[in-house]
Amino acid sequence: MPGSLSGDDWTVVEESLDRARTRFFESILSLGNGFLGSRAILEEGYEGGYAGTYLAGVYDKSGGQSFAIVNAPNPLVTEMYVGGRKLSADGMEVVEHRRVLDMKRAVLYRRTLFADGESRYEYESARFFSLYDMHVGLVWVSFRSLDVDVSVVLRSVIDGATQNEMHAVGGPRKHYQVTQSKTAPGDVLYLEARTADLGTRMGMASATDFKGVQPAGGLQLSFTSDSETNTTEHSFRAEKGVVYCFDRYVSVFTSRETEGDVEAACLAGLDRARTEGAPRMLGRHQEAWEERWRLADISIEGDPDLQRALRFSLYHLLRAAPPEDLDVSIAPKALSGEWYQGHIFWDTEIFMLPFFVYTNPQLAKNLLLYRGRRLGPARERAAASSYEGALWPWESAESGMEETPPTWIDFDGTVLPVYNAMREHHIAADIVYGVYFYHLHTGDDEFMLRHGLLMVLETARFWASRVSYDEASGFYEIKLVIGPNEFQEGVDNNSYTNAMTSWALRYACQLHQDFTERYPLGTNRIAEDIGLTDEEVNNWQRIAERIKFLQRSDGLIEEFEGYLDRRNVTITERDDRGMPLWPAEVILDDVKNTQLIKQADVVLLLYLLSDQFSLDVKRVNFEYYEPRTTHVSSLSITSYAILAKELGDTEKAYTYLHHAANSDLEDIHGNTDLGVHAAELGGTWQIVIRGLAGVRVRDGVLSIDPSLPDHWRSLRFHTWFRGNLIQIAVSQCSIEASMVDGAEAVEMDLSGARQVLQPGGAVRAER
Ligand code: BGC
Repeated sequence: MPGSLSGDDWTVVEESLDRARTRFFESILSLGNGFLGSRAILEEGYEGGYAGTYLAGVYDKSGGQSFAIVNAPNPLVTEMYVGGRKLSADGMEVVEHRRVLDMKRAVLYRRTLFADGESRYEYESARFFSLYDMHVGLVWVSFRSLDVDVSVVLRSVIDGATQNEMHAVGGPRKHYQVTQSKTAPGDVLYLEARTADLGTRMGMASATDFKGVQPAGGLQLSFTSDSETNTTEHSFRAEKGVVYCFDRYVSVFTSRETEGDVEAACLAGLDRARTEGAPRMLGRHQEAWEERWRLADISIEGDPDLQRALRFSLYHLLRAAPPEDLDVSIAPKALSGEWYQGHIFWDTEIFMLPFFVYTNPQLAKNLLLYRGRRLGPARERAAASSYEGALWPWESAESGMEETPPTWIDFDGTVLPVYNAMREHHIAADIVYGVYFYHLHTGDDEFMLRHGLLMVLETARFWASRVSYDEASGFYEIKLVIGPNEFQEGVDNNSYTNAMTSWALRYACQLHQDFTERYPLGTNRIAEDIGLTDEEVNNWQRIAERIKFLQRSDGLIEEFEGYLDRRNVTITERDDRGMPLWPAEVILDDVKNTQLIKQADVVLLLYLLSDQFSLDVKRVNFEYYEPRTTHVSSLSITSYAILAKELGDTEKAYTYLHHAANSDLEDIHGNTDLGVHAAELGGTWQIVIRGLAGVRVRDGVLSIDPSLPDHWRSLRFHTWFRGNLIQIAVSQCSIEASMVDGAEAVEMDLSGARQVLQPGGAVRAER
């Protein structure tokens, strides 16, 4: 099958080369280490391929609508010429081709057999960007001419001609200028570029070393540099049947992490890697990945396909997770593409963060610090719209200012104004929810005193100034917003926004009280700094209690004012996966006049604030909204799956899980070529752990209330809980929890049975 995909539960395999699927495979086989993300291009290039190299946090505008993640120079271009002809699928026959992404080790392997009229040529490569030393990478290549002796030229190139082409609006844009392209001692290539607006310097060094069999006639080496590319050429005569191997080392730094001398850092990094050598470099990289996987992995017995899809989800989150010293967050395409311009959305806090909170709280904290460090711009943003406190931007890049592009091109090509920056204010509550979620699970008071508390208080201030009081009803309202369901763009009293606001205000009051009691000095200092009075806090409580919430007596929550009066279109047809098919009678332009929903809105609320709603209310709303939800957005399925489980429909939860876990592998959204869908990757983790395993924290008790699909024999995973590392194993008839690391007793609820887990101990309950 052309371009087909296979693999076992740790691998994703591209079985053949299919031009139509080039960009899809580039996305799903992406490599990275949080500092750098690299699409899985063929090293030699390929017509229709898209070389994307993204350095976390490096954004540039260059006259565009907003700052965009820069498609940096590509340090991986490696070309081989035989008798002057390039080994390439564009000009040669490809007899065999296979690439394997080893997700356990984050290494991409390749074997391609090319042929021309004279011979067959075997090309193999393996490459990775080190997780141990995030500034270095390796491309290992081997070549064999199968039928003839032939003269070979191997070109190792740093390509400084890349540009951003994946735009919704406008043509390709180059975001940097190459400022240096030269050789350095030790047969090293060095290329440096500067981004146009901020002048961020990006340095790349590369060196190619032959190893193993040396060509009998020797090697000729030459260098060519022009204003955009920098090349080493190795020429040699290859004997038929002999395998020639070489290691290509690369190192990458930016002026963001160096004290200014990018070149020195690159050359030293490259030297370190070469001295260490490929095997040791690979060994350390593997160890670092083993360490990441040790706590992140989930093991499912009885469902190999889902196991692989789940690991695929976790792999892409792990490879995009920024290292602790990097001030960045994870964008919707997680450095596998530049769609959405690498901006940071609520996707991170609501969909990705929980995975990190449970499995690597340090990385979770780093994601929140990205927001915490940008409190200043969030205050400016609020003030610019005449609000008080802090309002984080709907889309954010390096500076933390609002980066939502003012226009967008719709599916049919029309240019539309974008209102999200002005109206999609629920982001403010979503970020506070992320802070709450992190603190609830980690108990990290220090983070709260340094950042979290202030973020929560300043957001409460924003909400208090954002609501308006309706004299007639005696309720506070939030008018002219966009809720998570973006089909309707200027509505009043969106229930998600209103309920999350009410929650965020109450949380601010509780947190303020709790911290005043436990840390009076620190809390008072923060209050003094921002001029916060008790009266203001009491006012938040008053507002929180009287925010309009549109719930009928039968429990149905109206998504926004007037939603139920819109045309009552429901989805009547589903595909063979059980997913909704768009109702033929509705054109896109008209969807705003119907009750159709782009993505979970009320249902997401019922998941996030789960304890505030009864099962009956959840059922009424699930049943109403499910036939109206198109799941056009990849952020939609998570909460439907989790609610289905809560409502006792494990089969439905599994159908949704299967869909979410495979959405990139099967290109269900039809746009994986632009990059993977990171929110859905995080959502997949949530469906398994927060949904099927039913892990929650209630009144300080860690509770597990699982419901496994019938064909699963067991589910095993780790979670951190307030500094204690706990391993959980769920089978069809039991739950076991054991403390792997930790010094405190943890109170647990195992499907209704209260138990105390002691340090070093284990507890068990039958189900
Ligand atoms: C969704 C938003 C999301 C954004 C980035 C949009 O299509 O509606 O909720 O934040 O994509 O993933």
